[in-house]
Amino acid sequence: MSDYDILVVGAGPAGSTFARYMANKGYKVGVLEKKKEIGLPLQCAGLLGRRIKDLNVLPEEFILNEVNGAYLHSPSDHVMRVSKKDTQAYVLDRIGYDGYLAEIASAEGAEILLKHKVKSVNSKYGTVKMVNQGHKELTARVIVGADGHSSLVSNSFNESFNTVKASQYLVETSKPMETDFVNLHVNSKISPGFIWSIPLSPTQARIGLFGNHDYQSLKHILSNFMQSQGYLKGSKIIKKYHGEIPVFDNRKNLVNDRTILLGDAASQVKPTTGGGLLIGFACARIAADVVSKSLDNDQTSILKEYESQYKKEFEKELKTQLMVQKTFELLSNEDLDEMFIKLKEKGAEDIISTYGDMDSQSPLVRELLKRGLIFSVLPKVLYRSVSHIWKFF
Ligand SMILES: Cc1cc2nc3c(=O)[nH]c(=O)nc-3n(C[C@H](O)[C@H](O)[C@H](O)COP(=O)(O)OP(=O)(O)OC[C@H]3O[C@@H](n4cnc5c(N)ncnc54)[C@H](O)[C@@H]3O)c2cc1C
Repeated sequence: MSDYDILVVGAGPAGSTFARYMANKGYKVGVLEKKKEIGLPLQCAGLLGRRIKDLNVLPEEFILNEVNGAYLHSPSDHVMRVSKKDTQAYVLDRIGYDGYLAEIASAEGAEILLKHKVKSVNSKYGTVKMVNQGHKELTARVIVGADGHSSLVSNSFNESFNTVKASQYLVETSKPMETDFVNLHVNSKISPGFIWSIPLSPTQARIGLFGNHDYQSLKHILSNFMQSQGYLKGSKIIKKYHGEIPVFDNRKNLVNDRTILLGDAASQVKPTTGGGLLIGFACARIAADVVSKSLDNDQTSILKEYESQYKKEFEKELKTQLMVQKTFELLSNEDLDEMFIKLKEKGAEDIISTYGDMDSQSPLVRELLKRGLIFSVLPKVLYRSVSHIWKFF
């Protein structure tokens, strides 16, 4: 007999949420977390689309700010303002929220084992080896790899992941900012990444970026950026953070024998922004349904349904975002500037405000294509390569 029905590797938001669902259904759940404190260090901008309220619990105390729009900046600072009347996204206290998600999983009966660093998993036999004041081995009927961007569980049956690096500062500004708008800056130097400025209060913001560079170069780009922005002149850096974001990879196997992958470990992230929380939460639900069916019928083959259900729900959207990302990678700063000017002239601010959604970008892309806007603003030399990217849409 196994020690647990389910062992979850990683008490991040995806792992804790899945553990809560399974403990609530009455299964014996263990969560192995290598850190001694959940959620630390912060590795997130904490910006979550409003759909979070449909996908997970979110007590008000973890909401630091609400935003209803964005200023989109080209490299030479041509700006588009897009917004809706109501809240589009929440800015979260991610450290507090991660701790809370683990706490409520534990309240449902999941056993959260801190300072348990998993060293190896055997998918076939359901054994997990770990270090916690010496070496230990535990067994489970199902293992869930929710161990983040460089997942050891994934590496046990997939090629190793590609990730991109991200850096972020918490800054205190000397001048008050608009709190209901985020600022997003594109620049070919970091494409497909971008720079963000997310207000937490009138005088505090998270300023960060991700891109295909080492941390030193990202830091350099961020420092130059801060000096170039009037509202950030004289601002004080309170904290510095960095972290990694998995590159979305739809060739990844999410199921192997009695093991599944969840969240960043499964590269369940939006290709355009690297955001992974909402998809992770949605997949925790799908996983909970499939894993209970598999346990109740004592058939590991049922776990395959997790991958097919995830793909059915997300593949189209994620592929669209991948095409947007690939298109961005082709554009120089001059191209981006020119496109911003043309898009603005052609009324894109209204179209983006109406059809834009930070988590579901295909309705906007479809609308822009339908109106012929994407190709009318692209540099002509890129038509052929961009048509090639979009031929399956
Ligand atoms: C700078 C930055 C900004 C971001 N901003 C946003 C944003 O604004 N919105 C958004 O939606 N997403 C954002 N993301 C992405 C988001 O943080 C991730 O998608 C999210 O944390 C994934 O959750 P997870 O539970 O899958 O993995 P994680 O949060 O990475 O949790 C994995 C857990 O597994 C543990 N673990 C790892 N290996 C082992 C092991 N061998 N044994 C035991 N435990 C282990 C880790 O300690 C960790 O606690 C950002 C990422 C970065 C780096």
